[in-house]
Amino acid sequence: MLEIKSDAPLGKVTTFKIGGNSRAAALVGSVDELKEACAFADGAGLAFRVLGGGSNVLVGDDGFDGLIIWYRDRTFEIDASTGIIRVGGGAITAQVAGAAARAGLTGFEWAAGVPGTIGGAIYGNAGASGGEMKEVVVSVDVFERGETRTYSAAECGFAYRHSAFKNASGIITAATLRLQHATQSADPQKKVMEVLRYRMETQPKGFASTGCIFKNFEPDETAIESLRGVGVPEMFLVARRVPAGWLIEHAGLKGLRRGAARVSEVHGNFIINEGGATAGDIIELIELVRGGVEKKFGVRLTEEITILQ
Ligand SMILES: Cc1cc2nc3c(=O)[nH]c(=O)nc-3n(C[C@H](O)[C@H](O)[C@H](O)COP(=O)(O)OP(=O)(O)OC[C@H]3O[C@@H](n4cnc5c(N)ncnc54)[C@H](O)[C@@H]3O)c2cc1C
Repeated sequence: MLEIKSDAPLGKVTTFKIGGNSRAAALVGSVDELKEACAFADGAGLAFRVLGGGSNVLVGDDGFDGLIIWYRDRTFEIDASTGIIRVGGGAITAQVAGAAARAGLTGFEWAAGVPGTIGGAIYGNAGASGGEMKEVVVSVDVFERGETRTYSAAECGFAYRHSAFKNASGIITAATLRLQHATQSADPQKKVMEVLRYRMETQPKGFASTGCIFKNFEPDETAIESLRGVGVPEMFLVARRVPAGWLIEHAGLKGLRRGAARVSEVHGNFIINEGGATAGDIIELIELVRGGVEKKFGVRLTEEITILQ
Protein backbone atom coordinates (compact mmCIF):
# COMPACT_ATOMS: atom_id res chain seq x y z
CA MET A 1 0.00 0.00 0.00
CA LEU A 2 1.33 3.38 -1.01
CA GLU A 3 2.50 5.62 1.82
CA ILE A 4 1.23 9.21 1.60
CA LYS A 5 2.88 11.71 3.94
CA SER A 6 1.12 14.88 4.89
CA ASP A 7 2.72 18.29 5.32
CA ALA A 8 5.96 17.26 3.62
CA PRO A 9 8.85 19.78 3.68
CA LEU A 10 9.94 20.40 0.08
CA GLY A 11 12.84 22.72 0.94
CA LYS A 12 14.86 19.77 2.20
CA VAL A 13 14.50 17.76 -0.99
CA THR A 14 15.13 20.28 -3.76
CA THR A 15 18.65 21.31 -4.75
CA PHE A 16 17.84 24.98 -4.00
CA LYS A 17 17.03 24.00 -0.36
CA ILE A 18 14.19 26.50 -0.41
CA GLY A 19 10.42 26.36 -0.06
CA GLY A 20 7.50 25.46 2.16
CA ASN A 21 5.63 22.19 2.61
CA SER A 22 3.30 20.31 0.29
CA ARG A 23 -0.10 19.27 1.61
CA ALA A 24 0.86 15.67 0.82
CA ALA A 25 3.69 13.73 -0.81
CA ALA A 26 4.17 10.18 -2.06
CA LEU A 27 7.26 8.24 -3.14
CA VAL A 28 6.12 6.30 -6.17
CA GLY A 29 8.16 3.52 -7.80
CA SER A 30 5.85 1.97 -10.39
CA VAL A 31 2.89 2.69 -12.65
CA ASP A 32 0.59 0.78 -10.27
CA GLU A 33 1.63 3.05 -7.40
CA LEU A 34 1.18 6.02 -9.68
CA LYS A 35 -2.42 4.98 -10.30
CA GLU A 36 -2.91 4.75 -6.52
CA ALA A 37 -1.39 8.19 -5.96
CA CYS A 38 -3.53 9.82 -8.68
CA ALA A 39 -6.66 8.13 -7.30
CA PHE A 40 -5.79 9.50 -3.85
CA ALA A 41 -5.38 13.03 -5.27
CA ASP A 42 -8.69 12.74 -7.16
CA GLY A 43 -10.49 11.44 -4.08
CA ALA A 44 -9.09 14.22 -1.88
CA GLY A 45 -9.74 16.89 -4.51
CA LEU A 46 -6.02 17.76 -4.63
CA ALA A 47 -3.96 18.96 -7.56
CA PHE A 48 -0.80 16.93 -8.09
CA ARG A 49 2.66 17.61 -9.50
CA VAL A 50 5.45 15.16 -10.20
CA LEU A 51 9.05 15.81 -9.24
CA GLY A 52 12.20 13.83 -9.96
CA GLY A 53 15.43 15.16 -8.47
CA GLY A 54 14.02 18.59 -7.62
CA SER A 55 17.01 20.17 -9.37
CA ASN A 56 15.16 22.52 -11.72
CA VAL A 57 12.45 23.81 -9.46
CA LEU A 58 11.89 26.70 -7.07
CA VAL A 59 9.23 25.92 -4.48
CA GLY A 60 7.37 28.95 -3.11
CA ASP A 61 7.68 29.90 0.58
CA ASP A 62 4.07 28.80 1.17
CA GLY A 63 4.76 25.42 -0.39
CA PHE A 64 2.32 23.59 -2.64
CA ASP A 65 -1.29 22.96 -1.66
CA GLY A 66 -1.54 19.57 -3.31
CA LEU A 67 0.12 16.17 -3.70
CA ILE A 68 3.77 15.94 -4.75
CA ILE A 69 4.58 12.69 -6.48
CA TRP A 70 8.28 11.81 -6.37
CA TYR A 71 8.70 9.37 -9.26
CA ARG A 72 11.40 6.90 -8.24
CA ASP A 73 11.61 4.11 -10.83
CA ARG A 74 15.39 4.31 -11.01
CA THR A 75 15.93 1.19 -13.13
CA PHE A 76 17.75 1.13 -16.44
CA GLU A 77 19.05 -1.52 -18.78
CA ILE A 78 21.71 -1.00 -21.43
CA ASP A 79 21.99 -3.21 -24.50
CA ALA A 80 25.57 -2.51 -25.53
CA SER A 81 25.19 -4.42 -28.81
CA THR A 82 22.32 -2.26 -30.14
CA GLY A 83 22.99 0.96 -28.17
CA ILE A 84 19.42 0.86 -26.85
CA ILE A 85 18.80 1.91 -23.24
CA ARG A 86 15.50 1.23 -21.54
CA VAL A 87 15.21 3.58 -18.61
CA GLY A 88 12.74 4.32 -15.80
CA GLY A 89 11.49 7.91 -15.54
CA GLY A 90 13.10 8.24 -12.10
CA ALA A 91 16.54 6.95 -13.12
CA ILE A 92 19.39 9.30 -12.24
CA THR A 93 20.51 10.96 -15.47
CA ALA A 94 24.19 11.11 -14.49
CA GLN A 95 24.22 7.40 -13.53
CA VAL A 96 22.75 6.42 -16.89
CA ALA A 97 25.31 8.60 -18.70
CA GLY A 98 28.22 7.08 -16.74
CA ALA A 99 27.05 3.50 -17.29
CA ALA A 100 26.49 4.10 -21.00
CA ALA A 101 30.04 5.45 -21.37
CA ARG A 102 31.43 2.40 -19.54
CA ALA A 103 29.49 0.19 -21.97
CA GLY A 104 31.39 1.87 -24.86
CA LEU A 105 28.43 3.96 -26.04
CA THR A 106 28.69 7.58 -27.12
CA GLY A 107 26.21 10.47 -27.45
CA PHE A 108 25.19 10.88 -23.81
CA GLU A 109 28.49 11.84 -22.15
CA TRP A 110 27.28 15.46 -21.86
CA ALA A 111 24.67 14.32 -19.32
CA ALA A 112 27.23 12.97 -16.83
CA GLY A 113 27.08 16.15 -14.74
CA VAL A 114 23.40 17.02 -15.10
CA PRO A 115 21.61 16.52 -11.75
CA GLY A 116 18.14 14.98 -11.51
CA THR A 117 16.24 12.26 -13.30
CA ILE A 118 15.52 11.16 -16.84
CA GLY A 119 11.86 12.24 -16.45
CA GLY A 120 12.93 15.78 -15.53
CA ALA A 121 15.55 15.81 -18.31
CA ILE A 122 12.99 14.80 -20.94
CA TYR A 123 10.41 17.29 -19.61
CA GLY A 124 12.84 20.20 -20.04
CA ASN A 125 14.87 18.75 -22.95
CA ALA A 126 17.95 19.13 -20.76
CA GLY A 127 21.25 19.74 -22.46
CA ALA A 128 24.89 20.62 -21.92
CA SER A 129 28.16 20.83 -23.85
CA GLY A 130 26.34 20.85 -27.19
CA GLY A 131 24.16 17.77 -26.50
CA GLU A 132 20.49 17.57 -25.59
CA MET A 133 17.90 14.92 -24.76
CA LYS A 134 16.14 15.17 -28.11
CA GLU A 135 19.20 13.65 -29.81
CA VAL A 136 18.99 10.40 -27.82
CA VAL A 137 15.27 9.86 -27.18
CA VAL A 138 13.55 7.18 -29.29
CA SER A 139 10.25 7.12 -27.39
CA VAL A 140 8.74 8.14 -24.06
CA ASP A 141 6.09 6.34 -21.97
CA VAL A 142 3.70 8.76 -20.31
CA PHE A 143 0.99 8.10 -17.75
CA GLU A 144 -1.92 10.39 -18.58
CA ARG A 145 -5.65 10.24 -17.94
CA GLY A 146 -5.34 6.87 -16.19
CA GLU A 147 -3.34 5.02 -18.83
CA THR A 148 0.14 4.76 -20.31
CA ARG A 149 0.76 6.06 -23.82
CA THR A 150 3.99 5.86 -25.80
CA TYR A 151 5.11 9.05 -27.56
CA SER A 152 7.49 8.80 -30.52
CA ALA A 153 10.41 11.25 -30.46
CA ALA A 154 8.61 13.43 -33.04
CA GLU A 155 5.52 13.59 -30.82
CA CYS A 156 7.62 14.82 -27.87
CA GLY A 157 7.78 18.29 -29.47
CA PHE A 158 11.36 18.89 -28.37
CA ALA A 159 12.83 22.35 -28.81
CA TYR A 160 15.45 24.31 -26.89
CA ARG A 161 14.71 23.49 -23.18
CA HIS A 162 11.18 22.57 -24.17
CA SER A 163 9.01 19.50 -24.75
CA ALA A 164 5.33 18.84 -25.37
CA PHE A 165 5.16 17.58 -21.75
CA LYS A 166 5.41 21.18 -20.52
CA ASN A 167 1.91 21.81 -21.89
CA ALA A 168 0.36 18.64 -20.47
CA SER A 169 -0.08 16.94 -17.13
CA GLY A 170 1.35 13.53 -18.04
CA ILE A 171 3.95 11.74 -15.93
CA ILE A 172 6.95 10.30 -17.75
CA THR A 173 7.30 6.75 -16.46
CA ALA A 174 9.95 5.36 -18.80
CA ALA A 175 11.83 6.04 -22.02
CA THR A 176 13.86 4.34 -24.69
CA LEU A 177 17.13 6.02 -25.66
CA ARG A 178 19.49 5.14 -28.47
CA LEU A 179 23.23 5.86 -28.38
CA GLN A 180 26.01 5.07 -30.86
CA HIS A 181 28.99 2.72 -30.58
CA ALA A 182 32.13 4.72 -29.96
CA THR A 183 34.83 4.40 -32.61
CA GLN A 184 38.11 2.83 -31.48
CA SER A 185 39.89 6.18 -31.20
CA ALA A 186 37.10 7.81 -29.14
CA ASP A 187 36.87 7.06 -25.44
CA PRO A 188 33.42 7.90 -23.97
CA GLN A 189 34.76 7.62 -20.39
CA LYS A 190 37.48 10.16 -21.17
CA LYS A 191 34.81 12.47 -22.61
CA VAL A 192 32.77 12.08 -19.40
CA MET A 193 35.81 13.17 -17.38
CA GLU A 194 36.31 16.21 -19.65
CA VAL A 195 32.65 17.19 -19.32
CA LEU A 196 32.85 16.92 -15.51
CA ARG A 197 36.11 18.89 -15.36
CA TYR A 198 34.62 21.68 -17.50
CA ARG A 199 31.61 21.91 -15.19
CA MET A 200 33.84 22.01 -12.11
CA GLU A 201 35.73 24.93 -13.63
CA THR A 202 32.72 26.95 -14.81
CA GLN A 203 30.04 26.43 -12.14
CA PRO A 204 29.85 27.64 -8.54
CA LYS A 205 30.79 25.03 -5.96
CA GLY A 206 29.53 24.48 -2.44
CA PHE A 207 26.23 26.37 -2.65
CA ALA A 208 22.64 25.24 -3.14
CA SER A 209 21.27 26.27 -6.54
CA THR A 210 19.02 25.09 -9.30
CA GLY A 211 21.55 25.44 -12.11
CA CYS A 212 20.83 28.03 -14.78
CA ILE A 213 17.88 30.23 -13.95
CA PHE A 214 17.19 31.64 -17.42
CA LYS A 215 17.12 30.19 -20.90
CA ASN A 216 19.72 31.50 -23.29
CA PHE A 217 18.26 34.13 -25.60
CA GLU A 218 17.40 33.13 -29.18
CA PRO A 219 17.32 36.36 -31.23
CA ASP A 220 15.29 36.91 -34.40
CA GLU A 221 16.60 39.08 -37.27
CA THR A 222 15.51 42.36 -35.67
CA ALA A 223 17.02 41.45 -32.32
CA ILE A 224 20.28 40.40 -34.01
CA GLU A 225 20.67 43.89 -35.51
CA SER A 226 20.07 45.67 -32.22
CA LEU A 227 22.30 43.27 -30.25
CA ARG A 228 25.10 43.85 -32.77
CA GLY A 229 24.77 47.55 -31.95
CA VAL A 230 25.34 46.96 -28.23
CA GLY A 231 28.45 44.82 -28.51
CA VAL A 232 27.15 41.24 -28.31
CA PRO A 233 29.84 38.99 -29.86
CA GLU A 234 29.19 37.93 -33.45
CA MET A 235 29.67 34.22 -32.66
CA PHE A 236 26.55 34.27 -30.44
CA LEU A 237 24.54 36.10 -33.12
CA VAL A 238 25.62 33.66 -35.84
CA ALA A 239 24.63 30.76 -33.58
CA ARG A 240 21.37 32.60 -32.83
CA ARG A 241 21.86 31.87 -29.16
CA VAL A 242 23.17 34.43 -26.69
CA PRO A 243 24.12 32.89 -23.34
CA ALA A 244 22.02 34.38 -20.54
CA GLY A 245 25.13 34.20 -18.33
CA TRP A 246 27.01 36.49 -20.75
CA LEU A 247 24.14 39.01 -20.82
CA ILE A 248 23.90 39.00 -17.01
CA GLU A 249 27.65 39.39 -16.56
CA HIS A 250 27.88 42.24 -19.12
CA ALA A 251 24.92 44.01 -17.57
CA GLY A 252 27.08 44.16 -14.43
CA LEU A 253 24.74 41.99 -12.38
CA LYS A 254 27.12 39.35 -11.04
CA GLY A 255 27.28 39.46 -7.25
CA LEU A 256 23.89 41.21 -6.92
CA ARG A 257 22.11 39.99 -3.77
CA ARG A 258 18.73 39.91 -2.08
CA GLY A 259 18.64 38.46 1.42
CA ALA A 260 20.74 35.30 1.37
CA ALA A 261 20.44 34.90 -2.41
CA ARG A 262 23.21 36.05 -4.74
CA VAL A 263 23.94 36.07 -8.46
CA SER A 264 27.02 33.87 -8.68
CA GLU A 265 30.32 35.55 -9.51
CA VAL A 266 31.47 32.32 -11.17
CA HIS A 267 28.51 31.91 -13.56
CA GLY A 268 26.08 34.80 -14.07
CA ASN A 269 23.13 32.53 -14.84
CA PHE A 270 23.33 30.80 -11.44
CA ILE A 271 21.61 32.22 -8.37
CA ILE A 272 23.02 30.66 -5.24
CA ASN A 273 21.43 30.20 -1.85
CA GLU A 274 24.07 31.24 0.66
CA GLY A 275 22.01 29.65 3.45
CA GLY A 276 18.50 30.56 4.51
CA ALA A 277 17.41 32.34 1.30
CA THR A 278 13.65 32.43 0.79
CA ALA A 279 11.77 31.86 -2.46
CA GLY A 280 10.78 35.53 -2.13
CA ASP A 281 14.49 36.52 -2.20
CA ILE A 282 15.05 34.43 -5.31
CA ILE A 283 11.99 35.75 -7.14
CA GLU A 284 12.98 39.33 -6.32
CA LEU A 285 16.51 38.69 -7.60
CA ILE A 286 15.16 37.03 -10.78
CA GLU A 287 13.12 40.16 -11.51
CA LEU A 288 16.06 42.48 -10.79
CA VAL A 289 18.28 40.50 -13.15
CA ARG A 290 15.60 40.36 -15.83
CA GLY A 291 15.10 44.13 -15.54
CA GLY A 292 18.85 44.85 -15.57
CA VAL A 293 19.44 42.78 -18.72
CA GLU A 294 16.44 44.35 -20.45
CA LYS A 295 17.66 47.83 -19.62
CA LYS A 296 21.17 47.18 -20.93
CA PHE A 297 20.43 44.95 -23.96
CA GLY A 298 16.69 45.29 -24.67
CA VAL A 299 16.38 41.52 -24.16
CA ARG A 300 13.73 39.97 -21.91
CA LEU A 301 15.01 36.71 -20.43
CA THR A 302 12.60 33.88 -19.62
CA GLU A 303 13.06 31.30 -16.88
CA GLU A 304 14.35 27.80 -17.53
CA ILE A 305 13.32 26.68 -14.05
CA THR A 306 9.85 25.67 -12.91
CA ILE A 307 8.35 27.79 -10.15
CA LEU A 308 6.03 25.66 -8.04
CA GLN A 309 3.66 27.47 -5.71
C1 LIG B 1 24.16 22.45 -10.25
C2 LIG B 1 23.14 22.25 -11.34
C3 LIG B 1 23.57 22.14 -12.66
C4 LIG B 1 22.64 21.95 -13.69
N1 LIG B 1 23.10 21.83 -14.97
C5 LIG B 1 22.21 21.65 -15.98
C6 LIG B 1 22.67 21.49 -17.32
O1 LIG B 1 23.85 21.49 -17.62
N2 LIG B 1 21.73 21.34 -18.29
C7 LIG B 1 20.40 21.30 -18.01
O2 LIG B 1 19.59 21.17 -18.95
N3 LIG B 1 19.95 21.43 -16.75
C8 LIG B 1 20.81 21.59 -15.73
N4 LIG B 1 20.36 21.72 -14.45
C9 LIG B 1 18.92 21.71 -14.17
C10 LIG B 1 18.36 20.29 -13.87
O3 LIG B 1 19.35 19.47 -13.36
C11 LIG B 1 17.77 19.63 -15.12
O4 LIG B 1 16.78 20.44 -15.68
C12 LIG B 1 17.20 18.25 -14.78
O5 LIG B 1 17.01 17.53 -15.96
C13 LIG B 1 15.92 18.31 -13.96
O6 LIG B 1 15.58 16.99 -13.57
P1 LIG B 1 14.85 16.73 -12.18
O7 LIG B 1 14.51 15.28 -12.13
O8 LIG B 1 15.62 17.25 -11.05
O9 LIG B 1 13.53 17.59 -12.39
P2 LIG B 1 12.69 18.33 -11.23
O10 LIG B 1 13.42 19.52 -10.77
O11 LIG B 1 12.26 17.34 -10.22
O12 LIG B 1 11.43 18.81 -12.08
C14 LIG B 1 11.60 19.78 -13.08
C15 LIG B 1 10.33 19.79 -13.94
O13 LIG B 1 10.22 18.52 -14.60
C16 LIG B 1 8.97 17.93 -14.29
N5 LIG B 1 9.19 16.49 -14.13
C17 LIG B 1 10.12 15.88 -13.34
N6 LIG B 1 10.00 14.54 -13.45
C18 LIG B 1 8.98 14.30 -14.31
C19 LIG B 1 8.36 13.13 -14.81
N7 LIG B 1 8.76 11.89 -14.46
N8 LIG B 1 7.31 13.27 -15.66
C20 LIG B 1 6.88 14.51 -16.05
N9 LIG B 1 7.42 15.66 -15.60
C21 LIG B 1 8.46 15.55 -14.74
C22 LIG B 1 8.52 18.58 -12.97
O14 LIG B 1 7.10 18.56 -12.83
C23 LIG B 1 9.07 19.99 -13.09
O15 LIG B 1 8.17 20.81 -13.81
C24 LIG B 1 21.26 21.88 -13.39
C25 LIG B 1 20.85 21.96 -12.05
C26 LIG B 1 21.77 22.13 -11.04
C27 LIG B 1 21.30 22.19 -9.61
